[in-house]
Amino acid sequence: MNGRIECDFELPADSPTPYEEYVLSQDYEFRTSTLQYDQATNEFYFHVKTRKVDKKGDTVEIEVSDDTGHQTVLSIDLGVNSLAVASTGTFWSGDEYDHWIQEFEKRRAEMQQRGTQTAHNALLRLGKRERAWRKQYIHTIANEIVEEAIDHDCDVIVFEDLTDIRERLTHANWHHVWAFRRLVEYVEYKAPERGVVVEQVEPDHTSQRCSHTDCGFTHEDNRDGEQFRCLKCGYEINADYNGAKNVGLRYTRKRQHRLRSSPTSGSADAPVDVRITGGTLNGNGYRPTAES
Ligand SMILES: [Zn+2]
Repeated sequence: MNGRIECDFELPADSPTPYEEYVLSQDYEFRTSTLQYDQATNEFYFHVKTRKVDKKGDTVEIEVSDDTGHQTVLSIDLGVNSLAVASTGTFWSGDEYDHWIQEFEKRRAEMQQRGTQTAHNALLRLGKRERAWRKQYIHTIANEIVEEAIDHDCDVIVFEDLTDIRERLTHANWHHVWAFRRLVEYVEYKAPERGVVVEQVEPDHTSQRCSHTDCGFTHEDNRDGEQFRCLKCGYEINADYNGAKNVGLRYTRKRQHRLRSSPTSGSADAPVDVRITGGTLNGNGYRPTAES
């Protein structure tokens, strides 16, 4: 942001270095690089992405970075107004899904009233069609979530644990709950093929907690329908988007705690960034994305 600067790039002492192995190698082609700054440790991390060129001429993407355990997170909040909201600010509305579920239910009710054998057979066919449609619909969203993670260079997609979803989302119907479970299942299946890990965190007042840096004030009156307004700091934000940020922050806190309590698993300062609209967020605050 202060113009071009030149700095030294220290390679690890081991040989072959990741630089020799991947960047200079004929087997890999260079793709992109990003520089990230961790405020807590005042350190920079340089991430280089290369693509493996295999014998068939296809390419496989792998990420090379120094072994800092640095992660960039895409967090997802699931809900009724919006089926899914990503920490990047992308929304998947629940309107179309709800509309078609109602249409299927209407037609089912009509056929059940007729009560004939023909109507019964038609009912079975309708059920089959509805199941196929639901699956297709959720598959599409799952694919888009994985793409969202790839587009924003995220290593991890984080969801909330769904165990008590019925108690937490009292206005969710069974078909919402069905959709949430399938969505997490499909993303868990698809993301690893693209090199993205999927994690779940325990819910922690996701919809009531203020996601503003240094606040975290939690109160049920913070939320009023689709609007979130923190009673303590006055932060205003879309309620579902607030939830998505909180899922990511929850993961950040959990991971930092885990790394601190088990020093062998990596650096205690291994930073985690939650990818949000126009930048990243971690326990130390918000910073804008530097355009590369
Ligand atoms: Zn607040």
